[in-house]
Amino acid sequence: MNDLTATPSVDGLGCHAGAGQMAEAARAAGNSEILDQYAADYPQGPHDKPQSMCPAFGSLRVGLRMRRVATVLSGSACCVYGLTFVSHFYGARRSVGYVPFNSESLVTGKLFEDIRDAVHELADPDRYDAVVVTNLCVPTASGVPLRLLPKEINGVRIIGIDVPGFGVPTHAEAKDVLAGAMLAYARAEIQAGPVAAPAQGRSDRPTVTLLGEMFPADPMMIGAMLAPMGLAAGPVVPCREWRELYAALDSGVVAAIHPFYTASIREFQAAGRTIVGSAPVGHDGTMEWLAAIGAAYNVAPDLIAAAQNAFGPAIKGALAANPIKGRITLSGYEGSELLVARLLIESGADVPYVGTACAKNEWSAADRAWLEAKGCVVKYRASLEDDLAAMEAFKPDLAVGTTPVVQKAKERGVPSLYFTNLISARPLMGPAGAGSLAQVVNAAMGNKTRMEGMKAFFEGVGTGDTSGIWEGAPNLRPDFRAIHQKKLDKAAKAAKAEEMI
Ligand code: SF4
Repeated sequence: MNDLTATPSVDGLGCHAGAGQMAEAARAAGNSEILDQYAADYPQGPHDKPQSMCPAFGSLRVGLRMRRVATVLSGSACCVYGLTFVSHFYGARRSVGYVPFNSESLVTGKLFEDIRDAVHELADPDRYDAVVVTNLCVPTASGVPLRLLPKEINGVRIIGIDVPGFGVPTHAEAKDVLAGAMLAYARAEIQAGPVAAPAQGRSDRPTVTLLGEMFPADPMMIGAMLAPMGLAAGPVVPCREWRELYAALDSGVVAAIHPFYTASIREFQAAGRTIVGSAPVGHDGTMEWLAAIGAAYNVAPDLIAAAQNAFGPAIKGALAANPIKGRITLSGYEGSELLVARLLIESGADVPYVGTACAKNEWSAADRAWLEAKGCVVKYRASLEDDLAAMEAFKPDLAVGTTPVVQKAKERGVPSLYFTNLISARPLMGPAGAGSLAQVVNAAMGNKTRMEGMKAFFEGVGTGDTSGIWEGAPNLRPDFRAIHQKKLDKAAKAAKAEEMI
């Protein structure tokens, strides 16, 4: 076990603390290998710390959505409170386990023993296929060694992962941390001997595993488009039950519909699978994707053409029947931003900017090239500041973005839509996706007059710390603010000097 007493104190620190300080502590506690792997899988900068949701929400959600999987968090109570709150807000409908700690149990190694006891207590094979334990920031920085947990208890698989905000930049990429860990486990099981067949049996046609959470009808649409080539849609990763992992690894070709699943892709490649980037969105995207999948499976050119001819005209028809007119800036942290931008442009919209919180890699290269050829600026690891600057500069008729972008747009009277709730929760693939955005996008753009009316109505109520109803003039204290700013500058300087030592 690690010598936890050698670890710098990180108790009480969180995402408000310097990421550098936490990372340094994690390295000192023996977690360098994990952090190096994350740095390679999820390259950072300039978006190098959580600007929105705690990243661990991504992996938590993946575990909670799987049947017969128990989830345990190890971290500060405030982090766990926030994470469980949001997971229940999104309808988790099951308990999240928590192993609390204090300074003493953290530094003496007792926390690890508590986690091990909790896992032993939970590992009931009648109820669970797997138990997932997640180290949040503080236990990761302290080097709580989840890798030393038993790999299996009574036939229940035990999976320990570290998902610190200072190593995993977005909640999207945290989904990959857990999906990748599960695939690695399942691959080792396959290597060790026969594994269970999928509940619905094996497909009689070669399958394509789909990487990325999608609208539930999208995999069916993809399956229909693959059928003329003699192929079928395989499981969607992250999976909904353990056995699907075996079937996912069994597909010869894996479609990286969402490009950020780098750890998962590594497992598929280690299993000898071929990865295909981009997705069947819009006309051009679908034609290219079908050709790439066909080529990966060595499908005869006439069958690829048959699939393209069966769906190309229908997609063109749906796009023409549901036009979008107007300028749209788009940003998000789901990893599907480039795909949505393609669809909007093919629907007729002018999209000058798309920002994604995820990193640039080869699996979104085709989408990036297509968008750039249409004059769209693609910004990877976009920060909130990038997204807001784009909104200011391009003066869109509609801003699609994250909560703070939408909030700023409302303040300016610009119609706006939340990417996560309203855009990424719609069908996007093939003919079904081609017409699906127009209704919601056009309705939002049609709200311009209402937005201006609201802006006029609230005019004069102040902004920032002077907003609201005041009996007199707001009591501004620029002198207090200046003193506080000086304190912050001093602390930043001191932190910088410490980093250089
Ligand atoms: S676990 Fe999440 S909420 Fe807690 S300190 Fe880390 S990034 Fe912040």
